[in-house]
Amino acid sequence: MYYGKQGTVWNIQANQASWMVRKILQTHKVLEDVGWNESQVIQMEKFSIKQVYQLMRGEYPKVEWRKLICNTCTYPKWTFILFLTLHGRLLTKARLLTWGSVENNKCILCDDGHEDIDHLFFNCHYSGKVWQQILRWQNIQKQAIGWTEEQRWA
Ligand SMILES: [Zn+2]
Repeated sequence: MYYGKQGTVWNIQANQASWMVRKILQTHKVLEDVGWNESQVIQMEKFSIKQVYQLMRGEYPKVEWRKLICNTCTYPKWTFILFLTLHGRLLTKARLLTWGSVENNKCILCDDGHEDIDHLFFNCHYSGKVWQQILRWQNIQKQAIGWTEEQRWA
């Protein structure tokens, strides 16, 4: 009743109000931002914070590789390297060469190919053998292919 003296409660300046009243007013603003009004919220049988969050966040397409990164039981370092690789941000020599940070982009494992993501993980003679051993260890019968195809397969 005190705050409603000046008209509707939602239009008051609550600088002097208690913490709880300010939070209620802030929540009202959030609900208005997602497109809900007071009567809609009152008529709801079940209020969902998840639904409000999704309305605030908006719709974004999900990337295909999200399950490779999220909720995996791997070491955080491996997940981070995979994340960088998926975004094309892994610091391979081919990438460092474009910045002038290295003198050449020769692979340090085989000293032959150009060290980009495809070569470093799959096309290199040495790392290709490692990948084949991992696939065999996991009882997966397939040949190593390029990064894009392996990503799609995974
Ligand atoms: Zn190599």
